[in-house]
Amino acid sequence: MPAVFDIKPAAAAAPAPDVATFLRPGTLTLHGQPPLSLYVHYPWCVRKCPYCDFNSHQVNGSDAREPEYLTALRADLEAALPFIWGRRIVSVFIGGGTPSLLSAAGLDRLLSDIRALLPLAPDCEITLEANPGTFEAERFGSYRASGVNRLSIGIQSFDNEKLHALGRVHDRAQAFGAIDIAHRYYDNFNLDLMYALPGQSVADLQNDIATAIAAAPQHLSLYQLTLEANTVFAKYPPTLPDEDTAAAMHDWIEQGTAEGGYRRYEISAYSTPQRECRHNLNYWMFGDYLGIGAGAHSKISFPHRIVRQVRFRNPSSYLEQAARNQFVAETHEVSRTDLPFEFMLNALRLTDGVPINSFLERTGVPLNTIEAELADAERRGLLQRDHTVIYATSLGLRFLSDLQAIFLRTG
Ligand code: SF4
Repeated sequence: MPAVFDIKPAAAAAPAPDVATFLRPGTLTLHGQPPLSLYVHYPWCVRKCPYCDFNSHQVNGSDAREPEYLTALRADLEAALPFIWGRRIVSVFIGGGTPSLLSAAGLDRLLSDIRALLPLAPDCEITLEANPGTFEAERFGSYRASGVNRLSIGIQSFDNEKLHALGRVHDRAQAFGAIDIAHRYYDNFNLDLMYALPGQSVADLQNDIATAIAAAPQHLSLYQLTLEANTVFAKYPPTLPDEDTAAAMHDWIEQGTAEGGYRRYEISAYSTPQRECRHNLNYWMFGDYLGIGAGAHSKISFPHRIVRQVRFRNPSSYLEQAARNQFVAETHEVSRTDLPFEFMLNALRLTDGVPINSFLERTGVPLNTIEAELADAERRGLLQRDHTVIYATSLGLRFLSDLQAIFLRTG
């Protein structure tokens, strides 16, 4: 079944379809809507890291344009309200970029605008991404007072040599300083670390993880460094540990985090009890999210279709278009054929898998549509299911992209 709305390149972007277009009858029937999260993108950083392919841009003094950007975010949210009318927000994630570059007053204004326009659940998780290089006790206390209740801190490594190789602007001492401040104001924070770094040995990695665990965060996110297209590292690749060393690091991470009291609940995410990231869990369980800000992505369910949107990516274009009250560069209705793959792509990342009923609930497509693929994955030892749940086996988690690819054949 072809998509009803084609992706349109930003340069040729026409006004985004209005909500009446999405409420028309269609071939899907969704009995209810999934939980809805809000993502806010802040697109600037002190400096662009050589491995980073995120929508982040080096800030040049006045280029940050904070007040103008905050005004645009509010207008973006107002324009999006008809698409999510009456729905409650279960989590907010302010990501980037480096949103901890926002002034205390700027962050307070942003959260006040969000609260004024949207009903937040009483226990709404509100996460802010922070870099140790921009950490200031006063500002982070103020962020907490404004309503941020979870931090995600980009530590990456505690080793100065590795931080330098990664082009990070902070050092080991600043990382510890950031963690001290996080403990003072927050009872829920995440540390992001990377492994398989240039020149890193298994022992170096063990030191990093042991240091992270000793810092007692409630959550750890551990990502293998990969060389992404259109980055400085893709053009001038550093020497990375070989495959066997990276695999040994991976094995050690599983063991070391478990011994430290962290449960792996997603392919790269580890948490202490009840401290899983609710925002990311909603993504992985094929929940809905509205994304505002430069380049932000949205996925929104309507009774007869699921729609994805992307905002104008470049911060300057986003601000220019915002002056015309235009924010959406691309709109795309997810086809019935693509829905099973999109669901499984996310769900199979979770170590506990997903309830079997959620497939029909979240996609509007009966589970027997993918019976052949499920059986194939089971036969290959990559997946298991019973009457209540579908989940990847440990072999399936290790070869996740092979497992996910099985569901690409649906159609
Ligand atoms: S701080 Fe984070 S978002 Fe910014 S350039 Fe570095 S990796 Fe990318």
